[in-house]
Amino acid sequence: MYNYLRISVTDQCNLRCTYCTPCCGLDLYRDDEKLSSEQIVRLGRIFAGLGVTRVRFTGGEPLLRKDILSLVAAFKNIPGIEQVHLTTNGILLGKMAAGLKQAGLDGLNVSLDTLVKERFKALTGFDGLSDVLTGIALAQKTGFENIKVNAVIMAGKNDDEIFDLIGFFKQHNLIGRFIEFMAITPLWDEQLYFSIERIQALCRSRYIVEPSLFRSLGPAEYYSLDQTQPIGFIHTVVENCQQCSRLRLSASGKLKICLYEEQGLSLKPLLSEMTDSELAVCISERIKEKNKIDHQFFKNRQIYMSQIGG
Ligand code: SAM
Repeated sequence: MYNYLRISVTDQCNLRCTYCTPCCGLDLYRDDEKLSSEQIVRLGRIFAGLGVTRVRFTGGEPLLRKDILSLVAAFKNIPGIEQVHLTTNGILLGKMAAGLKQAGLDGLNVSLDTLVKERFKALTGFDGLSDVLTGIALAQKTGFENIKVNAVIMAGKNDDEIFDLIGFFKQHNLIGRFIEFMAITPLWDEQLYFSIERIQALCRSRYIVEPSLFRSLGPAEYYSLDQTQPIGFIHTVVENCQQCSRLRLSASGKLKICLYEEQGLSLKPLLSEMTDSELAVCISERIKEKNKIDHQFFKNRQIYMSQIGG
């Protein structure tokens, strides 16, 4: 059942992570090319009618979207939507955590690849480590629990920080997840690839690593370290596809039934032509194709992750 919708609310980002966005930036959608707030909420209702129960706002950087708080609140009011989450780089989190909590956001994922100030600047193009750390602390103070922190581990960039990151997750009661660098992007560099197996071997050299009872929907496998700290590992292999329940909506209104999909079904022009029930038929026909996709077909596809939201 495809019950999980990731909505990229903007393709704009305030960081230039070296593995995600080219340093010169990308051609961004004009405002009139993006879905409006009303259009996103209308589509949210239609997707909920088709069985979507969980929504994640992503981007670009979703906290850059001016109406993000009202979008969260509106989705919390859509019958059938049980959980609304958001993935952020954390730069604006300190300023917005209280508003997000008040709007009803159920949970947060924060991306953080390094705890070293200079490295953060080199990896993201912005001297913002302290903003992210403050953002996480304030979000916890505001009442967000079980915050997940995602770190992409890259050889020679931050693989020497695996234990420091684990210590940080433990000290601050965070659920850390290590992610492999995905080859999907034109920014791919094989030299930087650091496999989950290598991260797990390092963990086993220092901790007792056992399968954990902790679960989240999605591709992460969870283990416990020394019977306490949960830690997630996210492979980027195609096997994830078999259990993939994800649908994706881009900031310009393209429905993608696979991360690797090139074009997607453009819903924006249909919004003015179709009734909700006509749109629902059209979307559900497309969703039915998901289990027929030959993911290998898309294998050589190149996308910048900031354009689709991870
Ligand atoms: N700006 C938000 C953030 O930083 O979390 C949301 C968008 S960002 C594209 C979503 C996630 O994609 C981040 O956790 C980022 O680390 C991850 N990501 C981007 N490019 C990646 C790649 N090539 N391999 C693995 N993860 C990647």
